[in-house]
Amino acid sequence: MFDLLSYSLADFHYNDNPNVLLPPEDFDSWVNHPLLADTFSCTGYQLATSPGTTTYLLDITNNDRIKVINLSSLNYLGLSYHPEVIQAAKVALDQYGLGSAGVPLVGGTFDLHLDLARKLAEFKQKEDCILYSSGFGGNVGALQGVLRRDDVLILDEKCHKSMVDGGTLSGAKMLFFDHNDPEHLATILETHSGKRILVGVEGVYSVDGDLARLDEIIQVCDQYQAATYIDEAHSNLIFGPNGRGVAEYFGVEDKIGMTFGTLSKSFGVVGGFVCSNARIIRYLKGYSPPWLYSTTPPPPVIAGLIKELEIATRDSSLRDRVLANASYMRKSLLDMKLDIGCSQSHIIPIMVGSSGEKLFNLAAEVRKRGLLLMPIDYPAVPAHLRRFRLSVSAMLTKEEMDTSLNIIEDVIAKALRAEEKKS
Ligand code: PMP
Repeated sequence: MFDLLSYSLADFHYNDNPNVLLPPEDFDSWVNHPLLADTFSCTGYQLATSPGTTTYLLDITNNDRIKVINLSSLNYLGLSYHPEVIQAAKVALDQYGLGSAGVPLVGGTFDLHLDLARKLAEFKQKEDCILYSSGFGGNVGALQGVLRRDDVLILDEKCHKSMVDGGTLSGAKMLFFDHNDPEHLATILETHSGKRILVGVEGVYSVDGDLARLDEIIQVCDQYQAATYIDEAHSNLIFGPNGRGVAEYFGVEDKIGMTFGTLSKSFGVVGGFVCSNARIIRYLKGYSPPWLYSTTPPPPVIAGLIKELEIATRDSSLRDRVLANASYMRKSLLDMKLDIGCSQSHIIPIMVGSSGEKLFNLAAEVRKRGLLLMPIDYPAVPAHLRRFRLSVSAMLTKEEMDTSLNIIEDVIAKALRAEEKKS
């Protein structure tokens, strides 16, 4: 019998089953392992109430509801269940119904979609904005839409899969610079002079929680006249004096050519958007299949998002709270001598190491103690850096944070310390 928990998704990509509609032989036994049930295969526990900081899971094996503190949802500002947002969505539901029932150019664009796009462009201080029905589709669509076969896309090696897929679909040459290393970026730019170049980074990196070294990266891009693209999926509404993201935080917004955001994380809903100069956005609309050929987001969702933007930009209270909570959690985890990588934000990894089995056992144990903390497995992260990822919300109370920290100390920190002693 082979050791199932030493396997990961990386082991099943190659499929030698003669029938293309059946998976590799061992895949079923791996994916049905009880410790994987509530992570990769999503068959164990599911959220049974809204993604708040205290929520309920449904154990589908016996229909029990389990109360947990939620450090896994990306609802950084708690906006998805804000009463004013729910009210705005309800009004739109009565006026427009549930769905938009059309792609953007064929009946799917409502006054609400135009209003949200205009407000997002104003917020990001760019001329125009294109809305996508998913964040993933937004990155794919924008990069596929502007890059051509002879172009060069240079991404930070930790950029999200959606940026990589957009680059692949565009047919442009795609290269990666070492994470957050402006000098390495410069050496790549040096060897591609004369080409149309786009350099892509994230504002806050999604599984490490560190910030792009944007001041230095922008300087290098300026020097080589390379255009810039930033994915602010995890930084919009949080970083910068007005919440406009890491580019605002570093004071380099005017140097960013194209800026992308999701409507799923700080906004806690669904969708993506890209802002830039009006001419390129107009052009992009002709060459961006995820926009052209995909139904626009439902009107109640858009109405809720408009209200969210208003709430999050009314004052700095939500972003102040999420950042204060994040620094309290980071400091407390460091006090426990846990390895939180280079997190500088509300995304905080707890490094567990190379054992998938340990990671999944600890995940099950913390959940039993009332904490929802999702494990992040290889190949999403390097095999020796399997980890938990904490998503800190502005809505977390001190009591919720302290209860979570006690569980983390009792279960994770103690286990990791015991192991360190042995080795
Ligand atoms: N960019 C980054 C950096 C992300 O982390 C994600 C979501 N994991 C996306 C894009 C895609 O966004 P969405 O989930 O809204 O489709």
